[in-house]
Amino acid sequence: MTLKDKINKICKDNTTLHGFASIEDYQNYVSDDLKGYSHAIVIGIKIPDEIMENIITFEGELEYRDAYTRINNKLNGITKKLEEIIKNEGFKAKSVNASYILPDGKLHGELSHKMIANLAGLGWIGKSCLLITPQYGPRIRWATVLTEYNLEVKNNPTSPQCSTCRLCVDICPSHAFNDVEFRPEDPRSVRYDAFKCSGYFDKLEKMKRPRLCGLCVKVCPWGTGNRKTKI
Ligand code: SF4
Ligand code: SF4
Repeated sequence: MTLKDKINKICKDNTTLHGFASIEDYQNYVSDDLKGYSHAIVIGIKIPDEIMENIITFEGELEYRDAYTRINNKLNGITKKLEEIIKNEGFKAKSVNASYILPDGKLHGELSHKMIANLAGLGWIGKSCLLITPQYGPRIRWATVLTEYNLEVKNNPTSPQCSTCRLCVDICPSHAFNDVEFRPEDPRSVRYDAFKCSGYFDKLEKMKRPRLCGLCVKVCPWGTGNRKTKI
């Protein structure tokens, strides 16, 4: 069994979706500490539909927060395992946490898992800045492993398919979205104001509610199976 076969097996056995991307030409997607890796493995685990549908009560919000944490922990365990087996075969590798936010005040992570998933052909960046998969919409959490091991992959980024839909734009209580489709040359701020979203989380916290919202994840018609009627 090749190393790539072993990676594929672990991903198939433990995740909902996974993909590979070549990132040599996309070093701007990663923080300075993570530059120099040529390839990436991105893995995703689905948030159960019943959890998403229940984000209408306080108990539902708590369940969503717990599922969010549980899935992130599982993703981080799998990426650590992948890192270990790649290193054991003599290649450099680095797992990247599913949800860590850099302490530089810019509200971004060490790397955009969603951009890697887009390069891997798993979906497109939506107007919500979430990765929208054709199968599950944005109801997936992601994590990544970077490596110098040549995964022999040709990138196949998925084109945006939000079109005239603006359900996430309209539902967002913090008005964080600008109804703009993804263009690789645009900074995130053209589509999305992360500080508005974070400010809303601050308000939730003051009300003793979980510091998480999820309405943009919940409403996307690609995740609810209603895409044909709502777009
Ligand atoms: S999580 Fe809520 S507040 Fe934040 S962008 Fe999505 S809908 Fe808006
Ligand atoms: S809700 Fe509509 S506009 Fe927003 S990401 Fe999903 S498809 Fe795109």
